[in-house]
Amino acid sequence: MGNKRDPESFLKEEMKTLRESNLEWFIRHLESSSKPHSKVDGKEVLMLNTNNYLGLATHPKIIEATIEATKKYGAGAGAVPVIAGTFDLTRKFQEKFAKFKEVEASLLCQTGYAVNSGLIPMLVGKPDIVVSDELNHGSIIDGVRLSGAKRIIYKHRDISDLETQLREAEKEEARRICIITDGVFSMDGDIAPLDKIRPLCKKYKARLILDDAHSTGVLGENGGGTHEHFNLPAGDDIIMGTFSKSFAVNGGFISASKPIINYLRMMSRSYMFSASLPPVTIAAVIAGLDVLEKEPHLMKQLHENVAFATNGLRKFGLASEPKAGIIALKVPGNVDIRKLACHFHKAGIFLNAIEFPAVPLHKQRFRISIMATHTRKDLEKLIFIVEDLWNKYVIPLQS
Ligand code: PMP
Repeated sequence: MGNKRDPESFLKEEMKTLRESNLEWFIRHLESSSKPHSKVDGKEVLMLNTNNYLGLATHPKIIEATIEATKKYGAGAGAVPVIAGTFDLTRKFQEKFAKFKEVEASLLCQTGYAVNSGLIPMLVGKPDIVVSDELNHGSIIDGVRLSGAKRIIYKHRDISDLETQLREAEKEEARRICIITDGVFSMDGDIAPLDKIRPLCKKYKARLILDDAHSTGVLGENGGGTHEHFNLPAGDDIIMGTFSKSFAVNGGFISASKPIINYLRMMSRSYMFSASLPPVTIAAVIAGLDVLEKEPHLMKQLHENVAFATNGLRKFGLASEPKAGIIALKVPGNVDIRKLACHFHKAGIFLNAIEFPAVPLHKQRFRISIMATHTRKDLEKLIFIVEDLWNKYVIPLQS
C-alpha cells in the first residue's frame, strides 16, 4: 500500500484505471521532418496527423530565414519579455501581423494555450459570464476556469441556442459578457457562423473572443482567417490564435485594439511570466507571412486537396462537412479505434486515434489533417486504405 497523502500513489491508481479502460494514449516518434512522406517509429508513412497545412515546416524560404535569424540573434531570448525586452524582429512581426489581421495591434505570445490562459482572465472575472460553444478547444475551457467567470455552454454552432443562453446571461445581470468560439473547430473542422454571432454580440452588448488557430493561413482570400472568410471586418473582436498550425512552428498571438493589447502586454500572466519566443521562431512566422502573400497557390492547393479527400471519404461517415484543413472521420463506438490506428500504421498511414479526453466519450474519430503538399496519389492511397480497413474492421460491426 502506498502513502495515501502522496500524489504519486494517486496517479498510479488513476493510470491503472485509464489503462484498464483502454484509455491510455501512446505517443509515436517522428524520425524525419513533418512532411507528407515521413518516418515514424522506423517506418516510412504517409503523414496525416500534422497541422502543417501549407507545408511551411519544410519550406526552403522559411528554413533559410530561421538559419539567418539564429546566426544573427543566437538561440534564445534568455528571459521573459518585460525583463530581457523583445527582439526588433518581434516588433517588425507584430506590426506586419496587425495589418494582416486588419486590427490596430497584435501581441506575439509564447503559445496559443498560454494566450487563452492569460487573455481570458484579463477580460472577465467572477461577476462575469462567458458564453462558450460546447466544442471549444481545451485551452479556452482552461482559460475560462482560471478567470473564475461563470461559463454558459451553447450547443455547437447553434445560433438560436446561443441567443437563448445570452438571454439567460442578461437575466443574471452579469457585469460583462463575452462570447467565445473557435473559428474552425479543432476536432471537427467546421466553421463558427461568425456572420450570425456578430449581430448577437451587438444586441446583447457582448464582446467576441475568437480562437483563429485553425483558420489563420487557411481561410479567407489571403489566409487572414475567419473574419476574412465571412468578409467581415475585425471590428471590436478579440482574435487569438497560434503559429503551431499553418505556420508549423510555435507561438501564439492576440490581435485586437491598442488599449487591449497595451494592457495585456503588462498584465497577462502567461505573457509576463514565460520567456520570449526564440528568434528562430519569430523569423519563421515573418517568413511564413511572406510565403502566404507570395505563394497563394499553397492555400488553393490545400482546399483542392481537402475537397478531393472529402469526396472520397464521405461515404465512410464524417463528423461534419470539412471547410478548412481537417477531415473528421467518425469511428463507431464498438470499434477498437486503437487497433484500427495500428492497422493504418501497418498500411503505411500515420493517423492517430482521437479519443477521450480530446473528444467526448463515444465520439472517437480519426482526425485527418490535409496538407497542400499531399499529392493526388497520396490522397488516393488514403481513400483506398480507409476503404480496405472499413471493409475488414468497421462495416462488419455495423451490420
Ligand atoms: N486553440 C486551438 C483551437 C487549438 O487547436 C490549439 C492547439 N491544439 C490551441 C488553441 C493551442 O495552441 P498552441 O499549440 O500554440 O498551444
